[in-house]
Amino acid sequence: DMVNVRCCVPGCSSLAAFGYEGGVLQACSLHQLDGHVLLRSKRRSDHPKGRCARVGCNLTAAYGSRFTRTRRHCHLHKTDDEVSLYARK
Ligand SMILES: [Zn+2]
Ligand SMILES: [Zn+2]
Repeated sequence: DMVNVRCCVPGCSSLAAFGYEGGVLQACSLHQLDGHVLLRSKRRSDHPKGRCARVGCNLTAAYGSRFTRTRRHCHLHKTDDEVSLYARK
C-alpha cells in the first residue's frame, strides 16, 4: 500500500507524493527531484469536484474561504474561517 509514505528528506515529515515513474514514493512536492512524477494523484489531488476536501469524505462541499470563494469542505469539516458559499450570491 502507498498510504503514509514519508518524504525521504531528513527532517521533512510531509507525505511523499512523488517518485520515478513505476517506482516507489520518495519525496513530497517540495523535495521532488528531476524526473520525479506525481504518483499519488489518484488518491489525493484528483478529488471529485464539489466534494469535501477531507480525505474519505464524500459530502458536498458548501463551505470555503470568503476570499477565494472556493468551496472546500462540507458542514462537518469546515474550518473556523470558512463560511457557507451557498447561502449568498
Ligand atoms: Zn519533503
Ligand atoms: Zn467533509
